[in-house]
Amino acid sequence: MRRILLSFTLLATLPTAAFSQNRGKVAQPDWTGIAAESQRILSEYLRINTTNPPGNEIAAARFLKGILEREGIPVQLFDSAELGSGHVNLYARLKGNGSKKAIALVHHMDVVPATASQWSVDPFSGAVKDGYIWGRGAIDMKGEAVAHLMAMIALKRSGVTLNRDIVFIANADEEFTSTGALVFVKNHADLMKDVEYIITEATENSVKNGKVDYFSVGVAEKRTFWQRLTVKGVPSHGSRPTSQNPVPRLVAALNKIAEYETPLHVTPGVDKFFRDISRLYPEPRRSWLANVRGAIANPEARKWILSDVYWNAYLRNTISLTALNGSNKTNVIPPEATAEIDIRLLPDTDPAALLATLKRIVNDTAVHFSTILEPKTPLESPTDTDLFRAIEKAAKERGPGAFVTTPMQTGATDRPTYRKLGIITYAIDPFKTEQAERQKGVHGNNERLSVDNVIFGVRYVYDILRYAQ
Ligand SMILES: [Zn+2]
Repeated sequence: MRRILLSFTLLATLPTAAFSQNRGKVAQPDWTGIAAESQRILSEYLRINTTNPPGNEIAAARFLKGILEREGIPVQLFDSAELGSGHVNLYARLKGNGSKKAIALVHHMDVVPATASQWSVDPFSGAVKDGYIWGRGAIDMKGEAVAHLMAMIALKRSGVTLNRDIVFIANADEEFTSTGALVFVKNHADLMKDVEYIITEATENSVKNGKVDYFSVGVAEKRTFWQRLTVKGVPSHGSRPTSQNPVPRLVAALNKIAEYETPLHVTPGVDKFFRDISRLYPEPRRSWLANVRGAIANPEARKWILSDVYWNAYLRNTISLTALNGSNKTNVIPPEATAEIDIRLLPDTDPAALLATLKRIVNDTAVHFSTILEPKTPLESPTDTDLFRAIEKAAKERGPGAFVTTPMQTGATDRPTYRKLGIITYAIDPFKTEQAERQKGVHGNNERLSVDNVIFGVRYVYDILRYAQ
């Protein structure tokens, strides 16, 4: 930790206030200087090992705090027993004139483990090589954090009139148990009272061969609703079959669930997504996607649409049978058999109604359902907002012919935790990262972000924030 402190003292000596003052009151940021600075900060951030567990985000939080303090932006670190030792949340606020509500930029400081032997560089080196900055978290999500941080700093330095405060939040523990955001929201809801919007992770721009097809804004996400099914029986020897073996009874129930097709249902963000992307397809697919509600009634269109595993998940509650437990010995009929099923709900589904449907389908009172994971707050943010329009404006300036659309997030993020406070949350991908690059690196090996992308991301977020004033 001492070494880290030392190194950001060194950073402090770098030119941090380089911008020209020749455009009246509002100075145009010196983007060349900010690009170099952002790159150095990202390398430094990647060098702080926040692999979770244990996370040890306190080192990262101190690093960010040092940068914010040098810029004169008030910053606080919050630790608590609930977070556990080594975990802290960071909160900073750049004041505007308060005439409109605040926008918060939220990221998590922790990263998933990296297997160094499978990387071509040290995953905690922050190495700059072949035009990329390499390291665990380069995309998920320290790169995004630097885009947030430097956009905010550039706004402060350039003296843009801020009608909205800009809040910067760095959470501990997202990748492991998500306690960072949960504890922050629980203990510091007062700090978020005037926050209208949150910008955070969890969407992907569609980039092919350097060209952006579309920029994504995540407005909705599926909710996990995990269930355990249990059947009790009477244990006995496998050589003498009985009717009280719980395994076949459980298997029969699971088979009914596996055969059940959840109904298709089009939510607003998904409807917009298909309509928006329809322009990328030839007929008849273009017409199908432009009216997905109609298309799912057409067998041919429906078959094609549902053959995409993402699109299928956008259009229905999904149920995956996953964990199974009977006997651990071939010759023993067990006293109990259990299964776990991974249910993902659309934002507007009532969990109780879905559960009632499953119980009706199983139609066996010996099968007991229990909830392993309650669904979080439904997340479906409106698109008719000032911030959404600001994102569209900033995005369109960056990709000739590119458009903004709203794919659904099929996995779970911290956004519903903030949504609980009534805040409109959008997921933004600030970078032009090829899909293959992202798939390989995020939670995989050789995670890296191109040097060009760093400043691209800073400027994209800067423009979004500026246009949303
Ligand atoms: Zn992440």
